[in-house]
Amino acid sequence: MKDKKIVGIIAAAVGGVLLLLVAVLLLDFFIPGGNGHTHDFKELLSYDNEKHILACKCGKKEEAEHEYGEGEVLTEATCQKGGTDKYVCKLCPNFKLENTDKTDEHSYDEGICLYCKDIVPTDEMYFEFTLLEDGTYSVAQKKVSLYPRNIRIPESYKGKPVTAISESGFEDNSRIYSVYIPDSLKEIGYSAFYECVNLEYIRIGENVKSIPRFAFGACRNLKEIIMPDTLESIEAYAFSNCLILYKVDLPSSLNFIGHSAFANCKQLETMDMSDTKLTTFEESAFYACIRLQTVVLPETVTFIGTKAFSECTSLEQANIPTALQYLGDSAFENCKKLESKIVLPDTISYLGKRAFASCTNLAEVTLPSNIVVMQENIFRNCSSLVIPVLPETLVEIHYGVFYNCYKMPEYLPVSLKSIGNYAFYDVENAGDVKYDGTTSDFMSVELGISVFSDTDTVIVCTDGEIEAGKNSDAAIG
Ligand SMILES: [Zn+2]
Ligand SMILES: [Zn+2]
Ligand SMILES: [Zn+2]
Repeated sequence: MKDKKIVGIIAAAVGGVLLLLVAVLLLDFFIPGGNGHTHDFKELLSYDNEKHILACKCGKKEEAEHEYGEGEVLTEATCQKGGTDKYVCKLCPNFKLENTDKTDEHSYDEGICLYCKDIVPTDEMYFEFTLLEDGTYSVAQKKVSLYPRNIRIPESYKGKPVTAISESGFEDNSRIYSVYIPDSLKEIGYSAFYECVNLEYIRIGENVKSIPRFAFGACRNLKEIIMPDTLESIEAYAFSNCLILYKVDLPSSLNFIGHSAFANCKQLETMDMSDTKLTTFEESAFYACIRLQTVVLPETVTFIGTKAFSECTSLEQANIPTALQYLGDSAFENCKKLESKIVLPDTISYLGKRAFASCTNLAEVTLPSNIVVMQENIFRNCSSLVIPVLPETLVEIHYGVFYNCYKMPEYLPVSLKSIGNYAFYDVENAGDVKYDGTTSDFMSVELGISVFSDTDTVIVCTDGEIEAGKNSDAAIG
């Protein structure tokens, strides 16, 4: 009995050991990589955008896709544009970026969205409403001691639309920082925001056709203005003396810029108006915009008024529209840096006095091929100008037209009947000028005083020469 028991115990023990061995072997077989240890892939060998390769201490390598963790916000999504989230792999430094959609939420601060400048409705207590004949309302500020910084003009009042801002409605309000004008509004009154000295930003609704006289004049902190695609005219002084207004996108519907509309906007740098329907720039429209460097005018322009761009002392590039009819007096006077090649089209019926006077960098000009009269001082003190070909239609050159220019023309046309005082005075490179007529033809041209003085001009006629520079007074008629 005892032996049997012992044998049974031994058999059970052996069986147990065998079972254990089998189990261990089986386990060893099924554990991944089981070679007596469990692999621990910790050492990073390499990675690229798709995968990383890790190694165990035993030298076994494993290639695997990245395991990205929770994303972190790299750039916040706003109401204006989507953001970016960054996902970093838990096992290697590789990361991926994913764009996020823009949000429906605005980020308001003091009632204005930091991103799209939407403004929350302003309490009616800050406005005065006037019932108009057509049953709609016009709005103005109510005088209260602490006016809100950001205001949204209400779209309606007592169930009726608000369609206008009263004349001088918000004039002289030094509290306002930004204004949102809704699309219900059709008319802005004369001088509506004149001298709102802290006004920086304005959004004008999509139904406004005209910005009236003085509307935003002397808003000396105005930086940005969103103009509607319905706008047709910007009237006199509308933005004059907006000292830091630096960028203006004029809508394609615009056809008129009034007297001094942007005069003295000292920070304007570029005015690309090529997409507009502009026909008219009234007097002094961009007078003394001293930082303005580039002006692109659309081909629709027919009228450039007196002093329209004069004293734009940084202006380097400007074009003359090919259908231009009127170029006012002093239109580009004292644009010292103007260096564009100026081509004056045959459509011009008036080329103003001093139009390009003191454009000291201007070197190349083409005159209208049908020009008859040159008004006084058109190119006076254009000290880089090579005097252009004078067309055979030219009859009168008035006082000082080419005074102190750089180089005499090759020919004087025989069509000339009179040349005014100082017309070619002090031209730096004088010398011979051909004249396709006789000396007596030339002597019959009515010459003013000192027409060629201070130059070595010799008029080479078909039958002899006249030393016009040395003795131009004596050449008088
Ligand atoms: Zn291993
Ligand atoms: Zn990875
Ligand atoms: Zn917003």
